[in-house]
Amino acid sequence: MNENDSPHNFIQHFVDEDKKAGKYEGRVHTRFPPEPNGFLHIGHAKSICLNFGLAAQFGGLCNLRFDDTNPIKEEDKYVRSIQEDVKWLGFDWQDRLFYASDYFEELYQYAVRLIEGGHAYVDDLNADEIREHRGTLTAPGKDSPYRNRSVEENLDLFERMRAGEFDTGARVLRAKIDMASGNLNFRDPVLYRILKAMHHRTGDQWCIYPMYDWAHGQSDSIEGVTHSICTLEFEDHRPLYDWFLEKLQIPHPRQIEFARLNLSYTVLSKRKLLQLVNEGHVSGWDDPRMPTLSGLRRRGYTAASIREFCHRIGVAKVTSTADLALLEHCIREDLNKRSHRVMAVLRPLKVVIDNYPEGQVEELEAENNPEDPSAGSRKIPFSREMYIEQEDFMEDPPKKFFRLGPGREVRLKHAYIIKCERVVKDDQTGEVTELHCTYDPDSKQGGATAGRKIKGTLHWVSAKHAINAQVRLYSTLFNTSEPGNEKQHPNFTECLNPDSIEVLNDCRLEPSLANAVPGGYYQFLRMAYFSVDPIDSKPGAPVFNRTVTLRDAWAKIVKKGGGK
Ligand code: ATP
Ligand code: MG
Repeated sequence: MNENDSPHNFIQHFVDEDKKAGKYEGRVHTRFPPEPNGFLHIGHAKSICLNFGLAAQFGGLCNLRFDDTNPIKEEDKYVRSIQEDVKWLGFDWQDRLFYASDYFEELYQYAVRLIEGGHAYVDDLNADEIREHRGTLTAPGKDSPYRNRSVEENLDLFERMRAGEFDTGARVLRAKIDMASGNLNFRDPVLYRILKAMHHRTGDQWCIYPMYDWAHGQSDSIEGVTHSICTLEFEDHRPLYDWFLEKLQIPHPRQIEFARLNLSYTVLSKRKLLQLVNEGHVSGWDDPRMPTLSGLRRRGYTAASIREFCHRIGVAKVTSTADLALLEHCIREDLNKRSHRVMAVLRPLKVVIDNYPEGQVEELEAENNPEDPSAGSRKIPFSREMYIEQEDFMEDPPKKFFRLGPGREVRLKHAYIIKCERVVKDDQTGEVTELHCTYDPDSKQGGATAGRKIKGTLHWVSAKHAINAQVRLYSTLFNTSEPGNEKQHPNFTECLNPDSIEVLNDCRLEPSLANAVPGGYYQFLRMAYFSVDPIDSKPGAPVFNRTVTLRDAWAKIVKKGGGK
């Protein structure tokens, strides 16, 4: 994707304006600031594309900064997965990998500066009492009885908080602003709390930790960030961040808010994604049904398709929900260009060609990708016995069923025309177990009857050459379009789709797929796009995940509903 092609969104407009006006000496410096308390998801991808994209577009820089101020929820495994995912998505922070925890000393000194200026105090109220004193949107809050401690006392208590003299939760440091402010964020927000917890990087060096609101803006300032892009819920926090930066007299980034991505049939809250993992509704953060980047990657999504999706949804100031169908459209478009077409029978039905010589094998030429002649071709074996898809045969087919039925003809892709002569059934169940056919020996490419008009073309796999494989068919994890809407669905796990995965263990694939390696993308002809599962596949025994269907299932449903 060329970032210069993007539509001119309002954020680009602001940055452009600042650059032209020579603000920040014309520099553009952004950052992507994840909290390492979960894996990145498609919503984060929007923020990553935006931040790294702006830097690229305006000749600037973009940092990766871990906002690691809450030791209780943060872990090193998340730090590692986040780096892997940002790189995979195609972005490079070069040597600018930072952690808010790198700034704990500076942030502490800034807090001391606030206390010295009479703008912060140590409060002995506990969390519940602070909440009670806070007031509501319509009623002002009440001052804490500790609000008017002297600067000396505050400095002494804050230092002793740091030294570990007090228990977890016993005291906090608060900004001294205005308990009656119409903006609740101004009602003496907490800046530091005591937490006797091990931090993933600083260990037990600290027992007081800065709150997000105190750490975030100052971290941006320390890094020389010029444009601090964040989601809309921080709009009301902006005046507070401005207040801090003004009191501290330190460089002042411009904060610009945009609407976070919501995606239909998907939840994007890390708390909910963690719940899905912890309660075993999915196999892990990288389950191919998860909207995480690691899940999407395992499902077979390409980085290019996700970047394209982020590009197409654009950036807005109004919250909306993007359609999952758009994401699927983007991956389909990309896979159409890059995936090899192969033949795989997911639910096999045996076919015997009675007039084909026993023991004979022909190697037929098959093109790899009609969209890309440079992809070349391969040989596929044809023999007397083969498998076709169960759904490609009907004993009593309607007129418009252009597949196989008693006495009907079809073409086998890359091969011959066959005719169904006889149906073998299970005596007990009546189930069709085998078809006996004849073939027209002159009907393959170059043969005398090759041009004969036949309506249906089926995919097939030679029985004795086929490899067995597991194939997993995925559908949406939720069966409702807004599972994250808490008013409609107080318990989102009740919206889980019980049919979100179907595992087929007896699939027969053309032999070339024995060499399919993780990361390979394929179109199983007439079926769907699939990719090789990187975790469960073994050498010579690939497992396939259905990435996306060939056509938009929703469009089909709408069409059916509306008649022809
Ligand atoms: P949660 O509240 O579910 O824990 P978060 O937004 O706090 O998620 P962070 O790790 O803090 O998660 O997010 C890092 C960056 O990614 C932030 O700048 C945030 O604005 C952005 N981001 C997170 N979710 C989305 C989303 N759905 N759409 C766009 N940007 C997002
Ligand atoms: Mg956050």
